[in-house]
Amino acid sequence: NSKDVDREVASVCPFCGVGCQVALKIKDGRVKQVDGIDGPANEGRLCVKGRFGYDYIHHPHRLTRPLIRLDDAPKALDVDPANPFTHFRAASWEEALDAAAGGLARLREAHGGEAVAGFGSAKCTNEEAYLFQKLIRQGFGHNNVDHCTRLCHASSVAALMENVGSGAVTATFNEIEHADAAIVIGANPAENHPVAATYFKQFAKRGGRLIVMDPRGQALKRHATHMLQFRPGADVALLNAIMSVIVEEGLYDQGYIDRFTENWDAEKQHLAGFSPEAMEPLCGIPAGTIREVARDFATARAGMIFWGMGISQHVHGTDNSRCLINLALMTGNVGRSGTGLHPLRGQNNVQGASDAGLIPMFLPDYQSVTDAAARQRFSGIWESAGFSDAAGLTVTEILDGVHAGRIRGMYILGENPAMSDPDVTHARAALAKLDHLVVQDIFLTETANFADVILPAAAFYEKDGTVTNTNRQVQMGRAAVSPPGDARPDWKITVALARRLGLDWAYDHPSQVFAEMKQGMRSLDNITWDRLEKEGAITYPCLSETDPGQAVVFGDGFPRPEGRARFAPADIVPPDELPDDDYPMILTTGRQLEHWHTGSMTRRSKVLDAMEPQANCSLHPSTLRKLGVEPGGMVRLETRRGTVDVMARTDRAVAPDMVFLPFAYVEAAANILTNPALDPFGKIPEFKFAAVRVTAS
Ligand code: SF4
Repeated sequence: NSKDVDREVASVCPFCGVGCQVALKIKDGRVKQVDGIDGPANEGRLCVKGRFGYDYIHHPHRLTRPLIRLDDAPKALDVDPANPFTHFRAASWEEALDAAAGGLARLREAHGGEAVAGFGSAKCTNEEAYLFQKLIRQGFGHNNVDHCTRLCHASSVAALMENVGSGAVTATFNEIEHADAAIVIGANPAENHPVAATYFKQFAKRGGRLIVMDPRGQALKRHATHMLQFRPGADVALLNAIMSVIVEEGLYDQGYIDRFTENWDAEKQHLAGFSPEAMEPLCGIPAGTIREVARDFATARAGMIFWGMGISQHVHGTDNSRCLINLALMTGNVGRSGTGLHPLRGQNNVQGASDAGLIPMFLPDYQSVTDAAARQRFSGIWESAGFSDAAGLTVTEILDGVHAGRIRGMYILGENPAMSDPDVTHARAALAKLDHLVVQDIFLTETANFADVILPAAAFYEKDGTVTNTNRQVQMGRAAVSPPGDARPDWKITVALARRLGLDWAYDHPSQVFAEMKQGMRSLDNITWDRLEKEGAITYPCLSETDPGQAVVFGDGFPRPEGRARFAPADIVPPDELPDDDYPMILTTGRQLEHWHTGSMTRRSKVLDAMEPQANCSLHPSTLRKLGVEPGGMVRLETRRGTVDVMARTDRAVAPDMVFLPFAYVEAAANILTNPALDPFGKIPEFKFAAVRVTAS
């Protein structure tokens, strides 16, 4: 009832990369209700997280004052939940900023700028991500800056950059409306991108051929023409088998291949060794089914391919994505309406944070740090002396660098590596070892427990700024309520730190940062702050001041030499750690509908926590029977990294030799168990496969 609210503010959901637009109903300075509005990605729809997951911003655990660690407080994750702030004392902003910047400056002086590294956040705005990478590059002279894209789609981006010339999606997910076949692989959109999933369901209802492929069953299966539940880690075997059928039966699009691609002969030859019959024992899918699916996709008038972290989070994640690119190219399914490659991005601004240069090898707009002209361009815009031409360290490499004594100080904004990194015991030991750690966040996260200085930040609904969703849609997020206590927007805190580190920064509003970004980012051509204020969303690339932006790109060639995309043959690389007698089962990790990532927001959201209140894992009923454990009983999961005790659910979607463990629960932290082995190209850890022993606990 509009009489029950004081005002309404339009913004963007802070959770997943779908980027649903919301109307926030405000009463007495608090968000009372969230409704979906007519954004380009959601047309009024919201999932349960967007609809009910807002009250964490009013939670009593919010950080409201800067904190400084007590001299004798141990650096460990041993906080009493009833009294979490015992290791810290409150400080003024002046004192805390001086301590934060002073510690980092001393390390810069004593050991050089490369002794300091930064993790930015995909939950911050584009302007905040841009300022964060600028601070590390301009303030410390190197590129040791990264964020959680390293843990989600870094391998997809590596493959797309290499073979297509651009890391973003080639078509919005809404384009599925114009497709007649779609593959969804290694993704569970009904739980992780629920509003995108509604478009997929509508597509299936209209008679579209929806082909779902995943080692774990899922709700979208009910809408699919085919559900291929393949062996974990066998992605390349399955995808190459599908493509070998397309070659064998001449179903490829020779005209498209000749006009827009290179290296086809090598790919064609390579696929000869991957017949469905040869791959069936590896991927567990009958050869006949592989043939049917290959024909279904290849003969479609227009087809799209969507993928998630089931593809990317493997030591062969880049190879998996290369296969998907090869499949789209050989069938001519890029560049037309209803076609495209679409890695479903995770966080609400992981696309934007990556575009803004929060990556150790790329400046904004994916301009390489090794490119002298690009470095000069940004040094000019920043009026700075310059910065290193060497790619910086990635998320996991930075924590290894701490153990090696190379990295001594960190500035972490809105990330929670003490929960989100693989093998968190190793990650937590690295955080404890740092000489100086500055954490900026909205809660005392597990990572903040290790901080020397904690800077209280505004939540997403408490600040202005732009974000970019999985569809390349730049959208305007608006402050709806004030931050609690002394908390401030992240951009303001980063600016204050930069000034104390000797940088002559003067920004009064995010719009000034956006204007500066436009100077070095062609992707923002024709997109202005004023337009975003009025229109709410503009898709990049945007061709004119009246263009809403291009939903589909690369219709006339690719941003690569001679405008050609490249086929990249991929071989089978096994998972890093195969099951054996000691650890005979397969652990896979992921998210659940109700909880977001490390749980810091959604577990403090009343409705969401009520819906899913307890740490859990999923096992096949036959496995539970063998273990002698009733559904709801406790099991022990052990890997070579550690042990977790957790409640077991029965779930036929999980194969008998697998266990699925969500990573949102600190009391059963999945990443105590995960394998830190990296994909060599994207440097992404193998979160989706580890050898595990499961026993009754
Ligand atoms: Fe938010 Fe994603 Fe749900 Fe939309 S689908 S409401 S963006 S969590």
